[in-house]
Amino acid sequence: MKTNIHNELDKKIADTVAILRQAASEFAPVVFANSLGAEDMVLTDLIAKYQPDIQMFSLDTGRLPKETYDLIQEVSQQYNIPLHVYFPDSTRVQQLVTEHGINGFYDSVENRKACCFARKVEPLRRALKGKGAWVTGMRRDQAVTRGALDVSAFDNDNGLQKFNPLLEWSNKDVWAYIRQYDVPYNKLHDQFYPSLGCAPCTRSISPGEDIRAGRWWWESPESKECGLHASNTSLKASRERIIEIAANVKQEVTA
Ligand code: SF4
Repeated sequence: MKTNIHNELDKKIADTVAILRQAASEFAPVVFANSLGAEDMVLTDLIAKYQPDIQMFSLDTGRLPKETYDLIQEVSQQYNIPLHVYFPDSTRVQQLVTEHGINGFYDSVENRKACCFARKVEPLRRALKGKGAWVTGMRRDQAVTRGALDVSAFDNDNGLQKFNPLLEWSNKDVWAYIRQYDVPYNKLHDQFYPSLGCAPCTRSISPGEDIRAGRWWWESPESKECGLHASNTSLKASRERIIEIAANVKQEVTA
């Protein structure tokens, strides 16, 4: 007999698959921006199992930790959906380094955002070009900047619909899924790195600290976004439609 925890997880899985199905049926072509964090490994597994027509990509900023490159390799070998990797424009990065220095992002929020723009935002825009919607692994309780997000909303900055199917998942749900389905994950998570990004801008945290305390730790919490998720407004997806699809997929997920 299943415990309440497992029943709750099954329900969240069914809801998430329903959201992915709604995205794929109403907004194709849809892409999943795989940051290779724990949440995104849950989505990788769900998309590969239930909605493989959603394309998957990651951004290689050129400053990622070795463990993230190891995971890219593992994902490419283990899953039957291709992981497309986008790189920054080399001319833009060269200009940035010439102006600010190789580690100039430590000097000011402005310099840090310029680096994130060159290495993340501009490649993201290329990856999203021509797509109807994109999917992310953002969760509501990850950061103060994510409290007001919706499961689905029009992304004004990038001009397409954006889905956050794990919005209501807790950190515990994410790890329960990873353990239950033996999903590969970034080994830095075992060394107190709950939130991962570029190597020079991410550090481990202490017990009790906020889970994003290790990201850009020298800045205030309000500025801790890289520009990939700048704004999320208007045109919410129909919650009723998601509930309807979830009811249809629940049996399939729990079978
Ligand atoms: S996280 Fe740091 S190294 Fe990575 S793009 Fe942003 S500022 Fe640059």
